[in-house]
Amino acid sequence: IETVTLLGVPFVKTTLSDMAVTLAKHAESKEKAFVVTANPEIVLHTQNDREYHQAIEKATYVTADGIGIVKGARFMGHRLPERVTGFDLFMRLLGTANELGQSAYFLGAREAVLNKTLDTIHKEFPGLVIAGSHHGFFDWTSQEIAEEIKTKKPDYVFVALGFPLQEKWIARNFPEFDQGIFIGIGGSFDVLAG
Ligand code: UDP
Repeated sequence: IETVTLLGVPFVKTTLSDMAVTLAKHAESKEKAFVVTANPEIVLHTQNDREYHQAIEKATYVTADGIGIVKGARFMGHRLPERVTGFDLFMRLLGTANELGQSAYFLGAREAVLNKTLDTIHKEFPGLVIAGSHHGFFDWTSQEIAEEIKTKKPDYVFVALGFPLQEKWIARNFPEFDQGIFIGIGGSFDVLAG
């Protein structure tokens, strides 16, 4: 996929639908991918947080999360088809996983929020296999969560720790995984929990 670079961040020229299809294909082929949905706040943050910048550089795909990125690209004389937000991509991928019977791991948010989110997903997407989950307030020196994901091999790993933590967590652990679509989705669990 072609990219447009803004402040050193390469954004994929893609629509929400095409991105979701591409990721579902990677999942079906048991490949791995690291997806960052970057808004203007994230792009600015890469400028003064070296670890964060390096994390974003490890991403397989960076999508334009918000109209500010699409407009910024246009201002620079480039075209990005549309915004591809974390929440929208999350919903698309849940839909695909539901249809194909794919599995997902859910990491992030407070335990009560996470449990409500899982209830909602279980009801709305009964075909999706919930491979496992963990709340978002854990000890980063422990490898337990990464080990669980390595063992369970979910098709998707939804990481809702908020930025910049979610991208840092994925970037640190990504080399260890053989497969799975890893994506940071911010406060999406809070939205689904209602
Ligand atoms: N969160 C977490 N662990 C942390 C800090 C935050 O799981 O150490 C969760 C928090 O409970 C919330 C989400 O991450 O569910 C952050 O959402 P926010 O809307 O702030 O993220 P953004 O969309 O700004 O990236």
